[in-house]
Amino acid sequence: MYINGDWIQTEEQFNVINPATNEVIGFVPNGGTKEAAYAVDAAYTAFKTWSQRTAVERSQVLKKWHQLIEMHKEELAAIMTEEQGKPTNEALGEAIYANSFVEWYSEEAKRIYGETIPASVSNKRLFVIKQPVGVVAVITPWNFPAAMITRKVAPALAAGCTVIIKPAEQTPLTAIKLAELAHEAGIPKGVFNIVTGQPQTIGETWLKDSRVRKISFTGSTEIGKLLMKGASETVKKVSLELGGQAPFIVFEDADLDDAVTSVIASKYRNTGQTCVCANRIYVQETIYDKFIEKFKTAVNELKIGNGMDEGVNIGPLIDSDAIEKVNQHLKNATDLGAQIIYGEQQIEHLKGNFIKPTIVSHATDQMLCMIEETFGPLAPVSSFKTEEEVIHRANNTQYGLAAYVFTENINLALRVSEQLEYGVIGLNDGMPAVPQAPFGGVKESGLGREGGHYGIEEFLEVKYISLGIK
Ligand code: ADP
Repeated sequence: MYINGDWIQTEEQFNVINPATNEVIGFVPNGGTKEAAYAVDAAYTAFKTWSQRTAVERSQVLKKWHQLIEMHKEELAAIMTEEQGKPTNEALGEAIYANSFVEWYSEEAKRIYGETIPASVSNKRLFVIKQPVGVVAVITPWNFPAAMITRKVAPALAAGCTVIIKPAEQTPLTAIKLAELAHEAGIPKGVFNIVTGQPQTIGETWLKDSRVRKISFTGSTEIGKLLMKGASETVKKVSLELGGQAPFIVFEDADLDDAVTSVIASKYRNTGQTCVCANRIYVQETIYDKFIEKFKTAVNELKIGNGMDEGVNIGPLIDSDAIEKVNQHLKNATDLGAQIIYGEQQIEHLKGNFIKPTIVSHATDQMLCMIEETFGPLAPVSSFKTEEEVIHRANNTQYGLAAYVFTENINLALRVSEQLEYGVIGLNDGMPAVPQAPFGGVKESGLGREGGHYGIEEFLEVKYISLGIK
């Protein structure tokens, strides 16, 4: 672990497993209350000086971190493939994407503007200044081991906050590599801390501590709710990026080749393990058969295997529970009348947690795969008749993170985009997330936004100063 600029060990450790082989590839400290509290002490002390640094100084340190990540991106990618399973190309893509947040916020640090407000009397002047919220607890998932850290940490540090990070227990090695590079970049001691170990104990320690002023979390809706509840004890700010249940809607006038390329990118990225993966695919009935044919042909070209191997597009799932969930969704769908179009029921077990990409047709909204987040390479396709029907079905969920719409009709495109209750719309775009744009959900998909100038606001307090003058 990395706390207060030092590398910390604990007696007890836990293993990190390669999901493509189920072999142990390393071990990290199993931190608990003591280490979690030590990290808060360090971050709290460091906040006093880090927050006083000029924006330009903070920007320079972030730039250095950015340069070092760029220099070590292949190494970071290799770690990600090993501990998380994503194919090498995708892992390299994540390293670059993760680093784009560091670059963006190294620039944005210099643009934290305040405001002056016209007073209603002549002997007053009214100002607004923005200040860092303080110590931020960052809790991240395993599906994007690097990007989920930088997307939170870069704006937090740019704003002048200090961070205590608990990476997912499945992927701590990427986080540790990022810490090494942060250390080398000259991020001062206590500003950036990583605690690996018991999620609940670490989480509770941070929730109880009133010096922690913000929780920034990406993960399941279930844990997000728990953290939100816990944060209320000391009224911490919370940002939550939670589950999704993304509808992917293809209208009859869509460019079908484009829609198929995008559905492949959206559905099978990270083997279906992203919160913005297309979860349910709605295709207008007039083009349904044609879409299915093209979709099947495209999936057939995907190569499944160890992410380290050349040409692999589909790596393993993170663990055997993840496989079980996909199988449960598949079984439920076929029990309720869905037809397997591709993938068959057979599950291809290499040595690790592998499962074939699967397409089912005749999906209905009662099936688990149309209600819950599958988080795996199962693609249920359902047909719809009208715009009104598909909007209703797409919105009929407690989730609201990303939705995708494919059509060449600009009026239809805007009408549907405005009516979908989602935080991110991919309009003829299967991969909308970029560092300069706001990403986040509505309803039970979360609170707050990450990315762009919105992302830094999450780490700033607004202070109003009323100046009486003579
Ligand atoms: P997933 O299903 O993707 O693993 P989780 O919400 O369980 O999603 O995990 C996301 C992150 O939240 C991980 O870093 C995990 O260790 C952490 N986490 C899980 N349970 C708790 C908890 N009770 N308190 C704090 N963090 C937790």
